[in-house]
Amino acid sequence: MTRPQNDASAKLRPETLAIRAGRETSDYGEHSQALFLTSSFTYDTAAEGAALFIGEQEGYIYSRFTNPTVAAFQQRLAALEGGERAIATASGMAAIQATMLTLLKAGDHIVSSQSLFGSTINLFNGILAKFGVEISYVDPADLNAWRDAARPNTKVFFLETPSNPLTDVADIAAIADVAHAAGALLVVDNCFCTPVLQQPLKLGADLVVHSATKSLDGHGRVLGGAVVGSDKLIEPIYLHVRTAGPSLSAFNAWVLLSGLETLFVRIERQCQTALEIARWLEAQPQVERVFYPGLESHPQHELAMRQQNGSGGTVVSFVLKGERAAAWRLIDGVNVFSRTSNLGDVKSTITHPASTTHARITPAARERAGIVDGLVRLAIGLEHVEDLKADLAASLG
Ligand SMILES: *Cc1c(COP(=O)(O)O)cnc(C)c1O
Repeated sequence: MTRPQNDASAKLRPETLAIRAGRETSDYGEHSQALFLTSSFTYDTAAEGAALFIGEQEGYIYSRFTNPTVAAFQQRLAALEGGERAIATASGMAAIQATMLTLLKAGDHIVSSQSLFGSTINLFNGILAKFGVEISYVDPADLNAWRDAARPNTKVFFLETPSNPLTDVADIAAIADVAHAAGALLVVDNCFCTPVLQQPLKLGADLVVHSATKSLDGHGRVLGGAVVGSDKLIEPIYLHVRTAGPSLSAFNAWVLLSGLETLFVRIERQCQTALEIARWLEAQPQVERVFYPGLESHPQHELAMRQQNGSGGTVVSFVLKGERAAAWRLIDGVNVFSRTSNLGDVKSTITHPASTTHARITPAARERAGIVDGLVRLAIGLEHVEDLKADLAASLG
């Protein structure tokens, strides 16, 4: 059997929880996190098997729904988000899908921010809609729009903040109040900020969803996701994952646990570098506008500083003069930044949203979302800030 560690975790600071919460060791007493790479677990007698399956006895049964390495990841992330419990999933999209399929049925309604990750929009419009769920999209910064969009059948409010790629910041506490007044739950995708910068549950959100693929891994290695919240709300999502099977693999949980151990130092440094790059970009004559919540010029700067632990985050977007040609020339000319659309990695990345992440929506929808052809998105990693600036400067010419 495994021996859970650190029962006093509630008293520890978040930096310590990221390293110490949710460790489980075998009887060997290994110091590093063990990888329990097994699909099933044995029981000593038939009677013990029966007790495990019926839930009379606690223990590991089958890795679709119980695995010690996955459990350690779930406990650690729950501790970091300030939630009672987490359920891990195979990817961020699996986390959002499991949450929505658990909370919603045909005839229900979602009010969602319009500034969403592209696959989340496709999940809502292409899959949930097929099963009779209705969706209304609103400007995340417009509180009245959230209020006006609620209907008697509204069950879920959904948002991510800051948004991708324009870094719109939504007021989680205020939107949670609107959701609750409408009898709905607020679900927040906390992928961009991570619990280092923002703990939505403490601001009134009911559930947090994660793409662990991004900053929680932090090294661009594995896919993963999770949902965090109260025991009461997580239990039915756990039962959904147990039945439907979008489960996190033990190997990926093991990789993600080591990612979490360096989360605080990575995010803190990446945010410092991002702010310096954003300020530098604002001073470049080739740059028309910079989108970064840490800049005084950002429309929700004060809210972001209050809500995001005084930081603007790790993603910086900007519009170049000269449209698409200028954006592509910059992207083709860099040597340190990676040309890829992932984010949250220790390696800095550069991408052109209009022709990659947002290429599959109509030009009119792109225009409405503010994804203009001159827009470039940077996700800042851990390289030296001067090397990143010099790389951009050389390519800007
Ligand atoms: C990447 C991402 C997702 C989806 O996560 P996957 O792990 O790729 O499935 C969801 N939301 C946001 C904000 C993301 O950036």
